[in-house]
Amino acid sequence: MKKNSPIHRATRKKPVSAAAVPDIADVPALDFGSAWDFAPAPESTPVAIQDRYQLFIGGKFVKPASGQYFQSINPATEQPLARIAQANAADIDNAVKAARKAYDGVWGKMSGRERGKCLFRIARMIQERSRELAILETMDGGKPIKESRDVDLPLVAAHFFYYAGWADKLDYAFPGKSARSIGVVGQIIPWNFPLMMAAWKIAPALACGNTVVLKPAETTSITAMHLAQIFQDAGLPDGVVNIITGDGKTGTALVDHPDIDKIAFTGSTEVGKKIAKALAGSGKKLTLELGGKAANIIMEDAPIDQAVEGIINGIYFNQGHVCCAGSRLLVEESIYAQVLRRLRDRMRTLRVGDPLDKNTDIGAINSREQLNRISELVDSGIEEGAELFQSPCALPGSGYWFRPSFFTGVTASHRVAREEIFGPVLSVMTFRTPAEAIERANNTCFGLSAGIWTDKGSKIFKMASQLRAGVIWANTYNKFDPTSPFGGYKESGFGREGGLHGLMPYVVLE
Ligand code: NAP
Ligand code: MG
Repeated sequence: MKKNSPIHRATRKKPVSAAAVPDIADVPALDFGSAWDFAPAPESTPVAIQDRYQLFIGGKFVKPASGQYFQSINPATEQPLARIAQANAADIDNAVKAARKAYDGVWGKMSGRERGKCLFRIARMIQERSRELAILETMDGGKPIKESRDVDLPLVAAHFFYYAGWADKLDYAFPGKSARSIGVVGQIIPWNFPLMMAAWKIAPALACGNTVVLKPAETTSITAMHLAQIFQDAGLPDGVVNIITGDGKTGTALVDHPDIDKIAFTGSTEVGKKIAKALAGSGKKLTLELGGKAANIIMEDAPIDQAVEGIINGIYFNQGHVCCAGSRLLVEESIYAQVLRRLRDRMRTLRVGDPLDKNTDIGAINSREQLNRISELVDSGIEEGAELFQSPCALPGSGYWFRPSFFTGVTASHRVAREEIFGPVLSVMTFRTPAEAIERANNTCFGLSAGIWTDKGSKIFKMASQLRAGVIWANTYNKFDPTSPFGGYKESGFGREGGLHGLMPYVVLE
């Protein structure tokens, strides 16, 4: 069979668990006929993209000291979208000074009630402009419009609303203690949920009275600059939030700046470790939200159709660019064939393509670099003897795409079972007892999230108490809420975002 055919069988080694479970060919396939043909429905709301985006420092849009700009492209078309300012150490120094001035002069002294009002205004303006922001998010990052419109933007506004509500109630959040702000916070975010990550970071920091210097990811900076415009329009005092765009060097310079009181980082475990080393002994506070390799566990008494939807949502949502993606599927052996057949059938109906089309399920991979990383790991899975299934869908001619895929015959030592792929690629394994499921699920250096699918509430409680993961979904997956804390154990980082817990990294309790 050819390497590009839907089912590529690796010949070097025999899949390990395949012999132990029923062949999925024994379960009849469903015939969907043409039920899934849709006419194209591209998003048609016009949006204004600037040719150039400047830095946002001290409440103003300013040119970078270097005079240099880099290109942001649309990963679905590879067409240029805008040029983004490249911030250097001098710009960061200006941004930190502006944040310090705003902290000492205005924001650090402002009453919680006034801070809350400002955050409520921002939340309302995000809602008013959410269509425009969703389109920009999709064009710059490649995620389907139905996700940016129906998931990301509502959550962005919800986070600002939620933390606006806390701003004047910190005494109730920490009864018997007095919560004091920390000062100037440096925040560094990744490209998978650009606005949502900005909201998760900025909203609690401001609610607690801190000021911020934020660095968005290089490939997805555009919406952060539109958020800056909202801050200006909402009357947020100058310098309370400063946004500096650039690459990893810009992030390093922010981490190294001596007048930063705390760094909040979301991104890869590799960069997170570098930051932890750089800050050791500096007295600066640190929170890290890093990678994951979550187990999604399907017990034999689970509602299988719902579980299959949960598996799809767990790994193919946002092209698998999700730190908490359910990227290791653990299926009880007795239902393996049934689950795999239904998963395969459902994958055939997923539409991959134009992210601006309202019917698209899976959009573009964020960058060529990320596509190369996914392809390299998938090649390693084949090399190591796992068996690859890929949805046979047509892919657009230009842009960065990866077919929804899963591996069977995976062992715990395979790279596809251990390393974060951060793409639409699932590794399927089986288990025989709940104890084995827990052991396999915990057999990872990460500990961000997990999923359990079962009819029995008692199993959910028992297993959840044994899983070493920060977030555990039961009979659902990838659901987020501003009231609920999110964060990891082990190499997935430390500190929580969301909920009451999300206030803690931004206060000193006395
Ligand atoms: P990344 O390479 O670690 O980058 C994250 C951010 O850090 C970007 O803004 C990046 O800038 C910047 N950066 C790069 N090198 C730096 C350095 N030496 N010092 C300071 N900043 C630096 O991660 P990514 O590839 O963008 O994002 C994917 C990763 O994020 C995955 O591992 C995923 O699991 C993780 N993630 C975790 C969570 C969570 O909540 N736990 C949420 C989302 C994503 P550039 O863009 O210019 O490289
Ligand atoms: Mg882009």
